[in-house]
Amino acid sequence: MQHLKDTFKHKGKRKQLIMELSEMGIKDQRILDAFDQVPRHFFLDLAFDDQAYSNMAFQIGSGQTISHPYTVAFQTELLEIQKGEKVLEIGTGSGFQTSILCELGAKVFSIERHSDLHLAAKFVIEHLKYTPKLFFGDGYKGNALNAPFDKILVTCGAPEIPNELLKQLKVGGIMVIPVGEGQEQKMLKLIKQSETSFSKEEFGTFKFVPMLERTVKK
Ligand code: SAH
Repeated sequence: MQHLKDTFKHKGKRKQLIMELSEMGIKDQRILDAFDQVPRHFFLDLAFDDQAYSNMAFQIGSGQTISHPYTVAFQTELLEIQKGEKVLEIGTGSGFQTSILCELGAKVFSIERHSDLHLAAKFVIEHLKYTPKLFFGDGYKGNALNAPFDKILVTCGAPEIPNELLKQLKVGGIMVIPVGEGQEQKMLKLIKQSETSFSKEEFGTFKFVPMLERTVKK
């Protein structure tokens, strides 16, 4: 469990991480500022406290990982978030990415299939006073009740583009999703052109935990 204390040391390390992300090609200052505001170490086990601001992924329980900071920043940049937009995230995980989206002023809806991760993320996010809607459920189904969404972000590796999610995206909306059957996925940015068509652009190879069906209660 974390102590939820943000020290000068953490803040200093956060500035270094932001410089690193900027050197790696993250251009959007709003995203770099959001990384300055959200204490990533809150979302990690105390054992990782010292490394929380290195560009690494860590175990968060239930066999899942928090994404690399660069991956979070990169996916967020592809989404081109504007204030007030409705964003659906699949894979709340630690809740770090969720908090970055909230910090950018999005109205966030996030789904997690592991109940223990869902609850742990809820605890930290509430502590930080962000107010996304967090759901325990199967992301393949999306969230029809709150659809359509301006943006959809998938933070687990999908074997294919889930049709239900495409349906829940607004025309003109953007979906960012890593797609691939094996250990690696291609980062795709889809723009929904009409109810029946979308454009697709590819942005390199990444490694995500797999997107799996059904919920897991522990
Ligand atoms: N955005 C997260 C990344 C966590 S890893 C973060 O910042 O920490 C991806 C998460 O997707 C895992 O927690 C995994 O349990 C979840 N996941 C996998 N398949 C899912 C599905 N079908 N529906 C919802 N969540 C899913």
